Amino acid sequence: MMRTLLLELSESNRLSRWVTTNGIARRMSHRFVAGETLDEAVTAARACNQAGMTASLDHLGENVTSADEARRARGAYLAIFDRIAQEKLDANVSMKLTQLGLDLGDDFCREQVETIVGRAAGYGNFARIDMEGSVYTKRTVELVKRVRATNAAVGTVIQSYLYGSEQDVKDLLAIGCRIRLCKGAYKEPPEVAFPKKADVDDNYVKLMQLLLPSGTYHGIATHDPRMIDATVDFAAKQGIGKDRFEFQMLYGIRTDLQRQLVRDGYRMRIYIPYGTEWFPYFMRRLAERPANLMFILRNLFRP
Ligand SMILES: Cc1cc2nc3c(=O)[nH]c(=O)nc-3n(C[C@H](O)[C@H](O)[C@H](O)COP(=O)(O)OP(=O)(O)OC[C@H]3O[C@@H](n4cnc5c(N)ncnc54)[C@H](O)[C@@H]3O)c2cc1C
Repeated sequence: MMRTLLLELSESNRLSRWVTTNGIARRMSHRFVAGETLDEAVTAARACNQAGMTASLDHLGENVTSADEARRARGAYLAIFDRIAQEKLDANVSMKLTQLGLDLGDDFCREQVETIVGRAAGYGNFARIDMEGSVYTKRTVELVKRVRATNAAVGTVIQSYLYGSEQDVKDLLAIGCRIRLCKGAYKEPPEVAFPKKADVDDNYVKLMQLLLPSGTYHGIATHDPRMIDATVDFAAKQGIGKDRFEFQMLYGIRTDLQRQLVRDGYRMRIYIPYGTEWFPYFMRRLAERPANLMFILRNLFRP
């Protein structure tokens, strides 16, 4: 129930305005968000690199309502790729299609993505399209396929909570597309997504077992030790080397486990979100673990 409530609140513009202008809440956001500026994200990415991990920078924002906003987001992503190259960071980029104008039209959004992926390819880098709510899944997969037909420097994300993900994985593997596998962070109805966590987890393992032997380099994104153990065991049994895939985790979550996997010789990429539009991202992180809410409340009311 708490998860549902937090995910519903994550869509409230009024609450977003109130929270993001509140000084204490902004400080709390640093639990999951590297900061509001690219400089802060670069500092976080450099720290990851120094700790033996790679990074993926996400300039936070979603569901823009004007072409100008979408073009500004495109400009921000072009600047991130320039900065990654200048700073010689081992980092790529994650971005959301609704931030790049998907609600304004598929062709408009695709042209924006093509420009960004072109810049990524110019640097020998890579752009990942995050997966948003299920109303966007089909359009996201189609757009990625179209962009990838002319430029392979793009990949996407598959969520194990969706019934349709197995077919999407098969279709994307057929074209050699790089996939990040996650469980899924949005509020979805039982018509499209497994309501029970056990089924989401079973599907995660099933999809991981399709990805790893495919010969394409994929990301296994989870903080769940059971999913990680299943991946480690499967890879070992199949003779799949530790350099043939990477684990991915979110900035600020299970840093102990991040470091342990690096010590064990696995590749680890940290997803580093930054920017002023952190509210929906922050709320999704609270929803994943209600104990986080207690942490926030304790800090808010601390004398
Ligand atoms: C790199 C990366 C990229 C992602 N990209 C997307 C995307 O594009 N689209 C999308 O829908 N979702 C995305 N997600 C989020 C994902 O779908 C899950 O919501 C999230 O990762 C929690 O699932 P879990 O696999 O960690 O397992 P869970 O079963 O939710 O959690 C397992 C354990 O991990 C820890 N944990 C998990 N979440 C938190 C948290 N917020 N705070 C503290 N501890 C926590 C807890 O110890 C928990 O017991 C991404 C996740 C990662 C790691």
